[in-house]
Amino acid sequence: MNDSKIKAPRGTFDVLGEQASARTALEARARAILEGAGYERIETPTFEATELFARGVGESTDIVRKEMFTFEDGAGRSLTLRPEGTAPVCRAYVEHGMHKRRQPVKLWYLSSFFRHERAQAGRYRQFWQVGAEALGSDDPAVDAESITLLATLLGEMGVRDLRLRLSSLGGPESRGEYRERLQVHLRAHEQSLSEDVRDRIELNPLRAFDSDHPGTRTVMESAPRLLEHLSDEDAAHFEEVRRLLDATGVPHEVDSTLVRGLDYYTRTVFEFTSDALGAQSGVGGGGRYDRLVERLGGPATPGIGWAAGIERILLAGDGSETEGAATKGGGQPVTAGLVELFVALEDQGPDARAAAFALVTEARSAGLTAQMDLGGRSLKGQLGHANALGARFVAIVGETETVLRDMQTRVQQPLATDSVVHAVLRGQHDL
Ligand code: AMP
Repeated sequence: MNDSKIKAPRGTFDVLGEQASARTALEARARAILEGAGYERIETPTFEATELFARGVGESTDIVRKEMFTFEDGAGRSLTLRPEGTAPVCRAYVEHGMHKRRQPVKLWYLSSFFRHERAQAGRYRQFWQVGAEALGSDDPAVDAESITLLATLLGEMGVRDLRLRLSSLGGPESRGEYRERLQVHLRAHEQSLSEDVRDRIELNPLRAFDSDHPGTRTVMESAPRLLEHLSDEDAAHFEEVRRLLDATGVPHEVDSTLVRGLDYYTRTVFEFTSDALGAQSGVGGGGRYDRLVERLGGPATPGIGWAAGIERILLAGDGSETEGAATKGGGQPVTAGLVELFVALEDQGPDARAAAFALVTEARSAGLTAQMDLGGRSLKGQLGHANALGARFVAIVGETETVLRDMQTRVQQPLATDSVVHAVLRGQHDL
């Protein structure tokens, strides 16, 4: 009999002791932040039809070309351990007819993912991600909210030396034209490119920006940039995302070389990195994927989301949240469905929107569960939404002042927008 010791497979690990507590604390923080902003937890199967990732993530990506754990079931169907979470969430959105719900539908997950990568510190073959997806709205405020929530989570986990890079890949039209321009540039310098990049000039030329091959990097320095060739609509969308991030004080750098590895991105893309991590510096990232649901056989549905690696958040974190969690009990659980403040807009003018967005973010930082309507609805529609959510207070942000309505007592008072959070906290206290 062979009785030699059996070890865990390469690139996998056991979660023990302090590590397990740290994960519990992170999960509690993520739940409080995301459910407080109206995200619902979703669990999807550990394996899916291979076709989902081939179509969803894209045949030209590293993930589909070489990193998937794929196997056949007894009946000869090809299945794959999920390498990422967005395609499965979109599949579930279509399968459960979620387009019939109030849009955007906001979902979050914390699950394990599988990629056959070269294992090293911070890079594993089974790893965990926390992720959030908002489907059904192309409003730039959804982009800004999504990014702000990840910034909040990473901030609260004490992730050190954090940077946020942001770009826009435009819509399919400007992207198509740009692709051709980039291909011309790459073909003109084919001799200097790495073999991998050369092989993908036709299939996925944008990936050349991610190469660390010195010759390729030199060629890419003079390559045309997509950000400079956006359509007016895409450029305006990007500007609005940036304006809203500025309104909430989320620092970011525009980086026209950011393309991200997945095929499905359109318009906004972003990535958080931590210099505390060394070579594998990506902590989390995401972007908009306005064509993905359609590509998976669903109705045309815009979407945006992100995923962040649990192991990397904990590696780059300063541990403060974990210590705190021991005394605080791991973050405040959010009562399902409880919305303390709903922010509505009297009109959809850009300044009022930025003020409303800043107010929601301020309320969340103060520990309130707060939401705003991200569907561009009329005031009546927004108040209907607030009612459906059972909001305790509604702030109606206008040009010059904000009206705060207590939905229980029906008392209304005009206020300066910057004193709304204080009034809500006081109002709750008085109950
Ligand atoms: P991606 O889905 O590739 O955009 O990755 C999002 C985040 O997941 C990254 O920023 C990492 O934090 C984490 N991640 C991705 N791949 C791995 C891996 N192989 N091992 C550990 N973490 C990973």
